[in-house]
Amino acid sequence: MTQFQNLTWEEAREQISRGLVAILPVGSTEAHGPHLPLATDVIISEEMSRRAALKLASQGVEALVLPAIAYSVTDFSKDFSGSISIRRETAAAVIRDICASLYSQGARLVVIANSHLEPEHVASINDAIEQVKQQTGRLVAFPDKRRRRWAMTLTEEFRRGDCHAGSYETSLVLAARPELVRDEIRDSLPRVPISIAEKIREGVTTFQEAGGIRAYFGDPRAASREEGEAIYEALAVMIVTAVIETLAAESA
Ligand SMILES: [Zn+2]
Repeated sequence: MTQFQNLTWEEAREQISRGLVAILPVGSTEAHGPHLPLATDVIISEEMSRRAALKLASQGVEALVLPAIAYSVTDFSKDFSGSISIRRETAAAVIRDICASLYSQGARLVVIANSHLEPEHVASINDAIEQVKQQTGRLVAFPDKRRRRWAMTLTEEFRRGDCHAGSYETSLVLAARPELVRDEIRDSLPRVPISIAEKIREGVTTFQEAGGIRAYFGDPRAASREEGEAIYEALAVMIVTAVIETLAAESA
């Protein structure tokens, strides 16, 4: 069992007292092209968390996956139906309170498994981590996959930055929840060779404005289950490495 919420409270007490590492999947409810569900980031974060928990267990670190956060700052996709955005302060407060609650019960470490990369959203996670530190003196592990160190372990499309609902994310949904990919639509989608990362640097603030008129970038047709499996492996290693490094930093 890797799911925290399926424990009873007595089992949770036992797990926490043994030094639980809690993995918090963070996603969004956001438009991901005409071929992927609004829950794409939640699906990806949950799956990478599950795989990381299994890897940690095989290294003797007890880890469980918390219920996912499905709401985040998603202002880039505000022109598309179904996207639900919350404010940066709200998002930060939720993450901060979850971490503080677990730490007050004795959890050893919380690690954030995030797959929504909008800058203001990542900022809300960093705000939360800073607030936890001030409030409890404790660290929260958070590998930011936009950083070169982690991006290097991911795909070329990801590094180019045309990675919203393109091959990268489509592959990850194919590997975790293939029944949710609208394959007929995906087969008809032309490549959108626009780097959203670059557009953000140029000051663009919405997908629409960046030229992603159907809420996707990159090449959904190039996606495959195999690519998804390979990316999950890298994402799980990223989480595991962040946990090991943060535990070492805490005990130093
Ligand atoms: Zn996404």
